[in-house]
Amino acid sequence: MSFSSLKLPPALVKALSEQQYTKPYPIQKQVIPSVLNGKDILGIAQTGSGKTASYVLPILTNLLGKTQSKSRHINVLVLVPTRELAVQVQEVFHLFSKALPEPIKSMAVFGGASINPQMKALFGVNILVATPGRLLELVDTNAIHLSDVSTLVLDEADKMLNMGFKEEVDKILAALPKNRQNLLFSATLSKEVEHINQLVLKSPQVIKIVPAAENIDLIGQIAYRVREEQKGPLLRYLIKTEEMNQVLIFTSSVYKADNVADKLRKNGIDAKATHGKKSMKARTDALRDFKSGVIKVLVTTDLLSRGIDIEFLPFVINYELPRSPKDYVHRIGRTGRAENPGKAISILTPEDDHHFKIIQKKMKKQVEVLNKEEIDLAGY
Ligand code: AMP
Repeated sequence: MSFSSLKLPPALVKALSEQQYTKPYPIQKQVIPSVLNGKDILGIAQTGSGKTASYVLPILTNLLGKTQSKSRHINVLVLVPTRELAVQVQEVFHLFSKALPEPIKSMAVFGGASINPQMKALFGVNILVATPGRLLELVDTNAIHLSDVSTLVLDEADKMLNMGFKEEVDKILAALPKNRQNLLFSATLSKEVEHINQLVLKSPQVIKIVPAAENIDLIGQIAYRVREEQKGPLLRYLIKTEEMNQVLIFTSSVYKADNVADKLRKNGIDAKATHGKKSMKARTDALRDFKSGVIKVLVTTDLLSRGIDIEFLPFVINYELPRSPKDYVHRIGRTGRAENPGKAISILTPEDDHHFKIIQKKMKKQVEVLNKEEIDLAGY
């Protein structure tokens, strides 16, 4: 399935391809058509699932030709728990709205920053991404009016309620027009979220995206135990003997990522490193080359792994284990697909044994560890 078959306008389809969003993620396949059809949504999904674009794209599409920009009446309200999320979500709105033939103005407002510049900048805004407390302040001072809101999004609703915003959320709901579309996203379905769900949503479509951890049985996992000096040769041996044409390798530091990529190249294997110390351009180029098959091997760190937007990978190698079991699951998660299970390989030294046991215990799954200390790696 492609983005164009989801009935998004050509300008957005073009922008998506420029952003290297090659095909819709599962949540986007489900949420986009429903939002375009005016339905309410209850989305149980985590950050990383692609949920932001799942609502940003159809909201922009629905607004086309319907906005007027000379007032303080917003059309779309997105409530989020934190300043960071507000900024992040607004960036996605901005990224795609600037591709449209007509301007749709979005803005993020949040507490902990001075209110006056926000009040001034709000004139002409169509889409407001806000934390609850600051939104109420802006409503109270008439810097913003809610009477034209046709779509409400509650993002990370569970976090919002856990952070004690229930009262503010209730006040905001009371101030909104009754007739509107509601989209509620939450990582979990707690009692509190269920309460808001009952209060807000009208026969919603329920969409649940299973996080990677629940897919773990679909992943072919294996580990090799070698001596420290055998790690490099074993890595090259695996890439060659398993004929890996697309493999993502994880290290625990930027330095190590560069080092592993260098060594692979010296041994005739197309590899690049991508990490937080590289320029934006270098990162984009590396990812593009990896996706298109120009380079077979991409070496990275956990910090950047979320930015590697590839839905399915045939091979993931942990050249070094991550400290947190959660990161381990996140790293290997994208190799688990029912129709095409991939392989996740960990290269261990005897010092890793204890930590790897903890990882296996936390993910509730045993991984076969092959002792390769005696393997003949001559020539690799
Ligand atoms: P989110 O869950 O909304 O925070 O999105 C997680 C990451 O996935 C973000 O870095 C997005 O840029 C990226 N992303 C979302 N949808 C797609 C897609 N269809 N193709 C590639 N990357 C995507």
